[in-house]
Amino acid sequence: MAIPSFQIATIKGDGIGIDVTDATLAVIDAAQSRVGGFSLRYRQILAGAGYYQETGLDIEAEGEEMAGAADAIFLGAIGLPSVRYENGTEISPHLRLRDRFQLYAGIRPIKAYPNIPQKLSDDRAAAIDMIILRESTEGLFYSAAVHDRCPVETDDEVQDTLRITRKTTEKLHDFAFNMARKRKEKGSRGIVTCVDKANVFKSMAFFRKIFDERSRAFPDIEKGYNYVDAQALDLIRKPWDFDILVMENMFGDILSDLAGGLVGGMGMAACGEIGDNHGLFQPAHGTAPDIMGLDKANPLAAILSGSLMLDYLADKAGIQALSDAADVITDAIHSGFFQNAIRPAEFGGDMGTRAVTQEIIRQINS
Ligand code: ATP
Repeated sequence: MAIPSFQIATIKGDGIGIDVTDATLAVIDAAQSRVGGFSLRYRQILAGAGYYQETGLDIEAEGEEMAGAADAIFLGAIGLPSVRYENGTEISPHLRLRDRFQLYAGIRPIKAYPNIPQKLSDDRAAAIDMIILRESTEGLFYSAAVHDRCPVETDDEVQDTLRITRKTTEKLHDFAFNMARKRKEKGSRGIVTCVDKANVFKSMAFFRKIFDERSRAFPDIEKGYNYVDAQALDLIRKPWDFDILVMENMFGDILSDLAGGLVGGMGMAACGEIGDNHGLFQPAHGTAPDIMGLDKANPLAAILSGSLMLDYLADKAGIQALSDAADVITDAIHSGFFQNAIRPAEFGGDMGTRAVTQEIIRQINS
């Protein structure tokens, strides 16, 4: 029987996006060879600020359709401060992909690895392991400038809109509870915390009401509540107590960076954006023009995003080998840090992008 094959659309983009994509594909290929049972085909899509400079297009013709036809999309990073659309904003075709494919579930894993400088002195910080699930198509970003949806925009006043819909919120909370179930099977605590401001805003009370409604289908999963301001405090006081935090777009934007800072910073910040039929995976960091071409980028945020992508494909296709390959990658990163064999320059270590990548591949093969 032929082994199942999946097509991955890759958009390397600009700056360090190119280096970290190459690193990720090399690591994924090593995991695939180690585990077997599936194959991946890559289709590169040209897009980004460099491409715009050359061609006047931010993504190649039919690029969005090609991305939509793939089983998953992997993106390095896009944008350079010096290259702008005529309206002065930075090149960002990936924001259109998020909108076009309605990628509502934004996953940001926040996990402490051994030997990365800890920001919190409490020993329990070594056990931080949570997911921030950020709704990514509505909330306050419904009014993001790119969408041009301000209800009031005069020289005297500007209003933005925070939009919460039942349809998206039901899917988001179901996603959170299902994810908690899967994590619980692997030893996590299985708690979903609804982070909102339900004491002040009707939209947030609605968000919480739907959380309660959907939770009834998941009696095995513990639920919790936190107002967003208290959650910011608790992320510093006791981040090890949380498992999955679900929240609207703007709260997630802020708290995911705060939480990412607790476990190493941008070079460790993985991200998955998932909709009903599509998934896009990319490091949460940008193109970091200050270090591009210097072999200094930490590829781990991208590689961890690649692992999320394999997990996503495993769920979508029901193929265990893909999930095993995802675990092979995270285990290699964990053991590499544990042995102090991964020492990224980002944390003051002596290893650049290529050396970190080679070490992860060595760990996978060992
Ligand atoms: P954007 O607005 O697209 O997020 P940005 O320039 O504001 O872009 P980043 O590109 O994420 O933000 O980078 C901010 C700084 O963090 C960079 O200048 C770089 O020094 C550092 N940085 C980001 N990603 C990495 C990485 N993977 N490895 C090492 N340093 C990084």
